[in-house]
Amino acid sequence: MAVPQRRTSKTRKRKRRTHFKISVPGMVVCPNCGEMKLSHRVCKECGHYDGRTVIEPKEEDIDAE
Ligand SMILES: [Zn+2]
Repeated sequence: MAVPQRRTSKTRKRKRRTHFKISVPGMVVCPNCGEMKLSHRVCKECGHYDGRTVIEPKEEDIDAE
């Protein structure tokens, strides 16, 4: 079984963790509504993608039916 050849030093470990991001990658701000959305996906808030409406935005204040 493959094992690490060298122990990772405290310094090396800490330097590696400086790149750590808390936020999920691939999230961008929607140019239409300003909400966070997944890149290359239709915005779920306003239904826009690539500068046009792809799906109708969800209607407001729809309660239990
Ligand atoms: Zn949007």
